[in-house]
Amino acid sequence: MIVHNIGCSIHAPSDGLSEITRRHERLPVIRDVILARPRGFCAGVIRAIETVEQLVAAATRPVYVRHQIVHNADVVGDFERRGVSFIEDLNDVPVGMPLVLSAHGVSRKVRGAALRRRLEVIDATCPLVAKVHREIRAHVRAGRHVLLIGHRGHPEVEGSLGQVAADRITLVDPSDTDFALPTITGPVAYATQTTLDVEQTRALIARLQQVFPEIVGPGLQDICYATTNRQAAVRFLARHCDLVLVVGSANSSNAARLVEVAVNAGVKAQLVDGQPHRWRGAWREARRIGVTAAASAPESAVIACVGALARELGAIRIRSMGEEEAIRFPPPAGLPCPPGP
Ligand code: SF4
Repeated sequence: MIVHNIGCSIHAPSDGLSEITRRHERLPVIRDVILARPRGFCAGVIRAIETVEQLVAAATRPVYVRHQIVHNADVVGDFERRGVSFIEDLNDVPVGMPLVLSAHGVSRKVRGAALRRRLEVIDATCPLVAKVHREIRAHVRAGRHVLLIGHRGHPEVEGSLGQVAADRITLVDPSDTDFALPTITGPVAYATQTTLDVEQTRALIARLQQVFPEIVGPGLQDICYATTNRQAAVRFLARHCDLVLVVGSANSSNAARLVEVAVNAGVKAQLVDGQPHRWRGAWREARRIGVTAAASAPESAVIACVGALARELGAIRIRSMGEEEAIRFPPPAGLPCPPGP
């Protein structure tokens, strides 16, 4: 896990300059817009998108993807315009066709159904999600009951629950404030969704350790590097801004957690899901606005958000903080060779 030291590379905002500007009535108030780094696409999302891109470029057969390849309406809409079909029911894929599994991963039942239908499975499951799957299966093989910390209904969680028999794994949803832990006799382990709120999960794991003193698990290590780094960047923004905008889709767990992290850090935060005009009233009240993007949100959406800020506020000074990530994952097996030059 890599957590960049994000506190050292922001330039101190020039409040003196802002004061001078404000005193001059004919000039607009200049608002600082601070862009988080890292923000936007993570290595797992880039790998999944490039997988579909490569199949589209090969143009040999129709491209089917189970579920949205990543939770972003812009990305999915762009692929749909280029003929990609996103399906939930494998019966919608003709027998023998290639099927891409999304970055969120799938249950063993779905994988088995794809093989029975003789689909050519190209597995774009993020390697960090696949790691959680392996851990869950290993715990059950070792005779442990698994408590999976994750948000009910999220496709990654559905896929992780489906790695083992239903009576060997129990969901612990951090959103359930009055969740009653099950009575379990025998060894217990826990596993986590990759996009959880780090601090909330830390508290939940401590509670599990009180109830099950012998419980084993990964600590916070399976909350992925991208989630950890983006949440750390948002906490930094929260200390320096009076409003944080999170660019992302409403069904993105990653985006929802970034909004929660900012709010829990004591700052106003809003999800900007492609309709920036909805939020403009709040923008006018803010003096310093932080902007970040979920791991599934493209940079074009960030540019659109900053453009809307500039149009609404008239004068903005754009800064950025933190460091870029350099992590990349190799492509999945089974992809056609990229077209030659
Ligand atoms: S957010 Fe993390 S787990 Fe999810 S695709 Fe990105 S790197 Fe993988």
